[in-house]
Amino acid sequence: MSYVFMPPAVPSVAVHGRADARFAVRRIYCVGRNYVQHAQEMGFSGREPPFFFLKPADALLPVGEGEVGTMHYPSLTHDLQHEVELVVAIGAGGREIAARDALSHVFGYGVGLDMTRRDLQGEAKKQGRPWCIGKGFEESAPIGELRPAADCRIDADTEIRLDVNGRTRQRGTLGELIWSVPEVIEHLSRAWTLAPGDLIYTGTPAGVAAVVPGDLLAASVAGVGRLELRLV
Ligand code: MN
Repeated sequence: MSYVFMPPAVPSVAVHGRADARFAVRRIYCVGRNYVQHAQEMGFSGREPPFFFLKPADALLPVGEGEVGTMHYPSLTHDLQHEVELVVAIGAGGREIAARDALSHVFGYGVGLDMTRRDLQGEAKKQGRPWCIGKGFEESAPIGELRPAADCRIDADTEIRLDVNGRTRQRGTLGELIWSVPEVIEHLSRAWTLAPGDLIYTGTPAGVAAVVPGDLLAASVAGVGRLELRLV
């Protein structure tokens, strides 16, 4: 068997402490409005059930630890916004996974940015159209190195934060998640069969705002990692 053209490389993310092996990515799931104050800043109560959207796997923009990645300002938008998120990496697949079993399916965690063409997303919402054009464009999913779950120390007090040009824009704790990581996996695995290589961007705290070329973004989840990115 051969292909009519060379298949693209499998998107992948570095694993902290594993210079020999990368995490091959299959799908990128994202949770919408998973922090109360962010849901409120988007005009909702924060009490809705969780909902999901996807980004293509090749929207990933992996950035190594200690590096400053480069993201190109995307086309069509005048309102590119940042959303810092805890990313869950699935290591063991399954469907209808119960919340109490969910953490055994987690390979590790990382820091991600759900970059959003907010003006296009807003127009899609207004028209009742899909969000793809606002959410699923090239380089829309920057991500730092993954850290194996056993090496992460995360709990309700863990800080999630985004600084732009040294000024804090978003700051919250993982305890503010409306739907916890096990609950997200439970809901998600009812709708889709999860598989090794799936990433879940778990939602963003309040403070989303626009960035412009030249901005330096520094995203972090304490005990998990850090991601630095220059927008050009
Ligand atoms: Mn998001």
